[in-house]
Amino acid sequence: MLARDANFVVDAIRGRRMEPFSEEWLLWCVRKDIVTGCWEWLRGKDSKGYARVGSRVHKSKLGARAFYEKYRGPLGSLHACHKCDNPGCVSQEHIFPGTAVDNMKDMVAKGRSNPRRGTHHGCAKLNAERVLEIRTKWASGEYTQQALADMHGISQMHVSQIVLRKRWRHLPEQISK
Ligand SMILES: [Zn+2]
Repeated sequence: MLARDANFVVDAIRGRRMEPFSEEWLLWCVRKDIVTGCWEWLRGKDSKGYARVGSRVHKSKLGARAFYEKYRGPLGSLHACHKCDNPGCVSQEHIFPGTAVDNMKDMVAKGRSNPRRGTHHGCAKLNAERVLEIRTKWASGEYTQQALADMHGISQMHVSQIVLRKRWRHLPEQISK
């Protein structure tokens, strides 16, 4: 029964509390995918599939944030964003501080339509708007592919494929408003 509550897992057999982030706790809570490198969170997730770490729902913390802060340091006001498009992943290797979100907010403030709402807006995935932004910035000649990659938490190779239209080929040059 306690184990269902779960994120700070109690070992039902031995009846003792596991130390969060200890080796044994990780074995209970995380499955490491050797192919993708994702650390799949096996305990509580929210309705969008984001890992939640903590003993109670209302006190829980976003897993990606908790793991990043544990291993890399405080995020402050930045968001914990996923490079891997897997909201259930808590690998600190796959998480980056959400400066791209700040850029997004900035764009929205400058009059782009359709601001996204919610905690993770602009964060987990590339979407059409961000792909177009990458192409526009690349075309301006003011940004290197590496700079664009860092901005969006993706690889330089991915940026290259976007600007060469090997990915997201179906997109028009502009999103109609
Ligand atoms: Zn991952």
